[in-house]
Amino acid sequence: MYDVKGNLSRVLADLPPGVRLVAISKYHPNEYIEAAYELGQRIFGESHEQELRQKHGSLPQDIEWHFIGHLQTNKVKYIAPYISMVEAVDSMKLLREINKQAKNCGRTIKVLLELHIAEEETKYGLTLDACRQLLDAGEWRQLDHVQICGLMMMASFVDDENQIRREMTMAADFFDEVKARHFAHDDAFCERSWGMSHDYKIALECRSTMIRVGTTIFGPRVY
Ligand SMILES: *Cc1c(COP(=O)(O)O)cnc(C)c1O
Repeated sequence: MYDVKGNLSRVLADLPPGVRLVAISKYHPNEYIEAAYELGQRIFGESHEQELRQKHGSLPQDIEWHFIGHLQTNKVKYIAPYISMVEAVDSMKLLREINKQAKNCGRTIKVLLELHIAEEETKYGLTLDACRQLLDAGEWRQLDHVQICGLMMMASFVDDENQIRREMTMAADFFDEVKARHFAHDDAFCERSWGMSHDYKIALECRSTMIRVGTTIFGPRVY
């Protein structure tokens, strides 16, 4: 087996106080997750509903599962009973559906708004302007069963560290803007989720509070 415990220990040793690790376990078997769990890791991230359903059903119940991928609205009902956080919300439609399903379960679900800052073309994530508009519109304030806890983003997948730093700094500055404008009195709005295997050390310099690391801990994914 891949040296999950050794790798996890090294990543955890890099974390300053106040920064948490989401161990990204997608495509990795339960025994890898159990090894990390034995070392005390409790937050894991998955990006496919069915895979998550199986893992949630067969692994310890005190694991906090984060949904990190693109979530289709028709899948929300399956994860609503147990998901700790939906990290990549990029539309009011999805936010409304999470609220509705959370209400059905008598829960409040934590979410992050996903920003699209990277230069790469992707369909997902809110541009800064779209995020401003969503928050200014204010409908989210009526959704009592979702709690917006912060922002998440993926930097461009490039070697140029300066570009990664620029993008993450842009996200961190935007967090400050949004915090001041909409969440100044809301202590729950505190999370900045950025940093993956190849760039989490940069993310730690760019005010990340939550890194999402998979490959460095569990090895390459077998699809
Ligand atoms: C897969 C994934 C990660 C982890 O990527 P690694 O390079 O394996 O660390 C982080 N965030 C998101 C959104 C992902 O889909």
